[in-house]
Amino acid sequence: MSAIVVGGGVNGLVAATYLARAGRKVVLLEAKDALGGACATTTFATGFKGPTIAHALTALDPRVVAELKLARRGLKFAVRDMPTVALRADGKHLVIGRDVRATARGIAAHSRADAEAWPRFRRELFDLARAMRPFWWDEPKRGWNLPPTIATLRRQNLAAWLDSRFESDAVKAAVACDASGLSPLVPGSPLLLVWRGCQEMCGLQSAAAIPLGGPGALVDALTAAAKVASVELRTGAHVADILVKDGAATGVVLESGEEIVAKRVLASLSHSQLLATKAGRSALGIGESTALERSVPAVASAKVLLALNAAPNFGGSPSRGRFLLADKIETFVTAHAASRAGCMPEELALEVVVPTAADPALAPMGQHVVSIRIAPLPRHLAGGWDAAKAPLAAKAIAALERCAPGLARHVTAAQVLTPDDIAKRYGEEDEVTVERVMSDWPSRILTPIKGLFLCGAASEPVGAVSGRAGRIAAAHALREAAK
Ligand SMILES: Cc1cc2nc3c(=O)[nH]c(=O)nc-3n(C[C@H](O)[C@H](O)[C@H](O)COP(=O)(O)OP(=O)(O)OC[C@H]3O[C@@H](n4cnc5c(N)ncnc54)[C@H](O)[C@@H]3O)c2cc1C
Repeated sequence: MSAIVVGGGVNGLVAATYLARAGRKVVLLEAKDALGGACATTTFATGFKGPTIAHALTALDPRVVAELKLARRGLKFAVRDMPTVALRADGKHLVIGRDVRATARGIAAHSRADAEAWPRFRRELFDLARAMRPFWWDEPKRGWNLPPTIATLRRQNLAAWLDSRFESDAVKAAVACDASGLSPLVPGSPLLLVWRGCQEMCGLQSAAAIPLGGPGALVDALTAAAKVASVELRTGAHVADILVKDGAATGVVLESGEEIVAKRVLASLSHSQLLATKAGRSALGIGESTALERSVPAVASAKVLLALNAAPNFGGSPSRGRFLLADKIETFVTAHAASRAGCMPEELALEVVVPTAADPALAPMGQHVVSIRIAPLPRHLAGGWDAAKAPLAAKAIAALERCAPGLARHVTAAQVLTPDDIAKRYGEEDEVTVERVMSDWPSRILTPIKGLFLCGAASEPVGAVSGRAGRIAAAHALREAAK
């Protein structure tokens, strides 16, 4: 075997396929019985399918889609460019689409000054985002310099940055949702917004899309591409450790005791998961281990799926949207502070999509699926997450009910995944930090063990369904093999 890929999520599948297309003999080992990881469509109630974790594609690398010919392997989109709808308790919902003028007209209902500022802000953000593409989309090339504005943004916080551009809470809160991985008071937090603006979906900058059939359809297309490239796909194969000899990876050992030998191992592990392996512990120095221990996140997110026996009504807004619930930018500030203290935030920030509005086949006729991401939340909640599971769902439904009156009585089933559930299923993520966002690809992908590369979302500047880490890790591994 030339290479082993650990983990069959989007990044593992992408890495394995690029390696196999370059003529390498590759085995992909996935612990679970199904491929896809956090990008999956699940049946959570009889007749109802929904996105287990990721529910809107905002960062899928267009090069992965084109190079792996995913359209030919069956990938179709139910919706390519959902508007963002900031739901307001007063019913003055704000629709932010990619049409700058239409958005500005909607903003005028909240503030004339903000409506005028919007086109300027959008241009500024997109220009910065494009300037950062060579850094975030590729490995840094010789001669490429960080735009000076980025250095300034590293010192500024999002709250102040938005305060100097807008006056209305509605606009500031809606914009801040895309940077909710960091508290808006953290210096450098505007960079998350620039990262988001840098992404392209279906050729559209900063768009949000849903595949036909849900996120699992992307995994089906990637699986088909992997099979065409002759990747050996093994499910139910939990890797217990990485084998290392003289500082270099020599293969892996499965929980069953089976050993598989290869010179290169690409693992969809976070840095904190690597530290948990025997190989990781022995390869890392004390300083590095201590730094990695600190990368275990204090802040995480939860996921709720609801089955509804009627369409949700968000006050006349288009239901094919990405709905955001956060009253003010302070919602994120206080939620981050509470989460870091291990407490449930008083007010939850929600991102909601209605997959059935784009793809009615996901539920019985006339019925609907509502998918909710709740973030930020404490990774470790005082009193434990088990007892807080039902109250969390009730709190999220109550928050939605304020903007979509009557929604609660139409809920017929729910699936709740707390930060604990998510970490148990998919492993511990790495903390989102400004240092991570601004570090280069080699430092996120290479490890102190020769031949061991990290290829999962934790190696991306910000974790998302993108496949970029898998693509770049495969390129690194191929380059090393050619030396
Ligand atoms: C609540 C939540 C909501 C999100 N929503 C979105 C969204 O809407 N849009 C978006 O773009 N992103 C979203 N994300 C992020 C996105 O889901 C992830 O970044 C992405 O799916 C990660 O892909 P991956 O392939 O790197 O890792 P994963 O999908 O986590 O796959 C890793 C795979 O490795 C396997 N594995 C782990 N350890 C081993 C082992 N020892 N042996 C064998 N196999 C192993 C796991 O079983 C898993 O299948 C969300 C994340 C969370 C937590």
